[in-house]
Amino acid sequence: MSRRGILVYAETIGSEIHPVTFELIGKARELAEKLDLEVWSTILGYGIADKAAELIYHGADKVYVYDDERLRDLNVIAHKSVLVELAKEIEPEIFLLGATPWGRSLAPRIAAALDTGLTADCIDLQIDKDGELLQIRPAFTGNILAHIKTSSRPIMATIRYRVMKMPQRDPSRKGEIIIRKFNDVDCDGIKCLGKVSERRINLADAEVVVAGGRGLKKKEDLVLLEELANLLGGVVGVSRPLVEEGWISKDHQVGFSGNVVKPKLYIACGISGSPQHLAGMRDSGMIIAVNSDPSAPIFRHADYGVVADLYEFIPKLILLLKNRKEM
Ligand SMILES: Cc1cc2nc3c(=O)[nH]c(=O)nc-3n(C[C@H](O)[C@H](O)[C@H](O)COP(=O)(O)OP(=O)(O)OC[C@H]3O[C@@H](n4cnc5c(N)ncnc54)[C@H](O)[C@@H]3O)c2cc1C
Repeated sequence: MSRRGILVYAETIGSEIHPVTFELIGKARELAEKLDLEVWSTILGYGIADKAAELIYHGADKVYVYDDERLRDLNVIAHKSVLVELAKEIEPEIFLLGATPWGRSLAPRIAAALDTGLTADCIDLQIDKDGELLQIRPAFTGNILAHIKTSSRPIMATIRYRVMKMPQRDPSRKGEIIIRKFNDVDCDGIKCLGKVSERRINLADAEVVVAGGRGLKKKEDLVLLEELANLLGGVVGVSRPLVEEGWISKDHQVGFSGNVVKPKLYIACGISGSPQHLAGMRDSGMIIAVNSDPSAPIFRHADYGVVADLYEFIPKLILLLKNRKEM
């Protein structure tokens, strides 16, 4: 009898593989060892066939490749149809996708077509003592972590970017690459007219994030954070109220309903440390909190706490960094 497996959808950005894919393959590898399953992956697009080996180097045993000009555009109906057909054919036990904007659009369509459940936005996957998969995700706005089991098959889940460990790349790993034909599907109704906008910043991949919250008095004061971020080679993040005020785009929002970040350094300025904000940054390498209130919850999660008015502290820090650069 052929082995059963965990299928990981390899998301692409143009002809590159989105790094969330490798994180998912790493996790799938860990689960597969415990459940005695194989790790399968599938990649769809145009000009992507030579990327299949990367999926094997990161831990996949088998990769299904659909390389066709008609899959160049991210047409959700075409991509869904291919993935549904593949899942019906190879019957994975578990099917994982990234909880990216694209993954979030694709996964529910696939789950509905396969008549199975979907646990969205997971931050961890574990095997319990009975050998069953636990899908862990924040619930009630991040105040609790729900542990979810699914009885339908395949078990489908989307997993957030940067919450799983990146596996080691091993170019000596061997696996099977299966080239599949794309059979045109009836996708009338959707036509890609072009890209309307692009994300201007990539918060999730930043090594340094200088974040501001309601401690800032006005929109213009964000330049303080920008200046500090530039000096440190980082980007500006914010708490949700600043996005709601229309001061800055949602691309900059850190937290439960924004971006999950994992920089080496996170500087939180005038941010109280709500559970929803912490959900997006608590795994940062080093957290420095600047807050005028010594009882602010953020201090319980910070490696270094500065009890100060940010309007006094940040300009001094900027000056200090500038002087050091000139030395
Ligand atoms: C469903 C849901 C999802 C949410 N998702 C998110 C999310 O993704 N991200 C997010 O951030 N929030 C999110 N929130 C909102 C969250 O609950 C908090 O309201 C928000 O994080 C608070 O932002 P803040 O820390 O900037 O503001 P506040 O809680 O008002 O804190 C401001 C802090 O600034 C300090 N301060 C004031 N003046 C100064 C000064 N001059 N110098 C230094 N410190 C000063 C104060 O002491 C205070 O601690 C969500 C809420 C819900 C209900």
